[in-house]
Amino acid sequence: MTKITRRTFNGILGGVGAAAALGVTGCANVGGGGRPHVVVVGGGFGGATAAKYIRRRDPSVQVTLIEPSETYYTCPFSNTVIAGINRINFIAQKYNKLADKYDINVIHDRVEAIDPAKRTLVTAGGTSMSYDRMVMSPGISFKWGAIDGYDEAAAERMPHAWNAGQQTELLRKQLAAMDDGGTVLICPPKNPFRCPPGPYERASLIAYYLKRNKPRSKVLILDPKDAFAKQGLFVEGWDKMYADLIEWVPAAKDGTIASVSAADMTVESELGEVHKGDVINVIPPQQAGAIAVRTGLTDGSGFCPVDQMTFESTIHPGIHVIGDASIASPMPKSGYSANSQGKAVAAAVVAMLKGQAVPTPGFMNTCYSLLAPDYGISVAAIYRMDGNKIAGVKGAGGVSPTGAQYQFRKKEADFAEGWYASIAQDSWA
Ligand code: FAD
Repeated sequence: MTKITRRTFNGILGGVGAAAALGVTGCANVGGGGRPHVVVVGGGFGGATAAKYIRRRDPSVQVTLIEPSETYYTCPFSNTVIAGINRINFIAQKYNKLADKYDINVIHDRVEAIDPAKRTLVTAGGTSMSYDRMVMSPGISFKWGAIDGYDEAAAERMPHAWNAGQQTELLRKQLAAMDDGGTVLICPPKNPFRCPPGPYERASLIAYYLKRNKPRSKVLILDPKDAFAKQGLFVEGWDKMYADLIEWVPAAKDGTIASVSAADMTVESELGEVHKGDVINVIPPQQAGAIAVRTGLTDGSGFCPVDQMTFESTIHPGIHVIGDASIASPMPKSGYSANSQGKAVAAAVVAMLKGQAVPTPGFMNTCYSLLAPDYGISVAAIYRMDGNKIAGVKGAGGVSPTGAQYQFRKKEADFAEGWYASIAQDSWA
């Protein structure tokens, strides 16, 4: 993989200097021999997939992928790491195959500022470049302070673990250090947020860990919602396996958290009830990744409105926003959705660069959740365009049945692992 400095990057662009590149407006950004240049911001599920599939669709397009981390830790299966079922390496993905196999210019840096009118960007490391089209998949950022007292410093004491990596390890270590008989508080956010079933999978797998290691302990979910994804299936599994361990407090029963005190390890509900936790997992409200917010790509919802056919921003033409940052409802904010959108946007971008009609996309999503290593449940959906809006296909997909036997749940757990291996391969290899 090439680690690109400002100097070498300009060389790769066929001698287009940074200053000259910044001066290019609207016309094709020469990547050597007049090749169009697509910059992909973010190397998570959406960005990695888009970069790879653009190159696969049209090798004449030069693709630059900008991602700060050399190792990306996936949120899918991060709950198994928290519960001590897998090690952190299980969820680590690298970028060498994207660079070596698909000849993508992978730059480990952070995009600091974008000028959508000039189609230029600058990175934290000082690299400037222009692009013909940009695909942005920056994931989420947190609305710090939306819960009184919950800021970046508090997250070091009460981890969110809603981006995987250091926060995942922190939560795992806190759980391992907790005494038997302790209370784990999980405080999910209101909709919309990344991975709707994620907090409930986390509660399940933490309960799995506690049942085996600290059976006198308890998981209390303080929820600002009265219903959650795959609820019937989760509750059925909890009744079977964790009846004394998990308690869910919905909004109607004062589950909404108004403030936290990291110093006291307490959270306070809207009606003033104070809960003390030995481990506290606060998952704060979310919005699109910071670069999308800073670039003015978001609307009042905090997420990015797009033309759902091409994922081009309805605010800044030339920038396509996919994944969690985009408004792609009814698709959920999931890694599978981001991957599916990455392929669709690749087709759209290649067609638009050639001045061709954009092919009508179709999408899919499956979300597996584990309640134990041998107990899986899922929800699946297929989407197609209804005019220029994404719509679920009636009768396609669905959720796992309730009342299924052990072998069925075990098979779904196996499918979950198979899904993970294949989506990781599809996105980064
Ligand atoms: P991300 O994967 O977050 O990628 C964004 C990338 O952009 C990051 O690598 C970041 O470093 C980079 N970036 C941000 N800003 C910049 C910048 N300024 N410059 C350059 N790069 C930047 N989904 C599933 O499908 N199945 C699951 O089982 C599942 N389980 C989950 C479990 C948990 C606990 C959680 C929290 C989520 C889970 N998800 C799951 C959801 C999934 O992780 C997200 O939906 C997915 O990561 C979204 O992909 P993305 O490309 O939009 O963002």
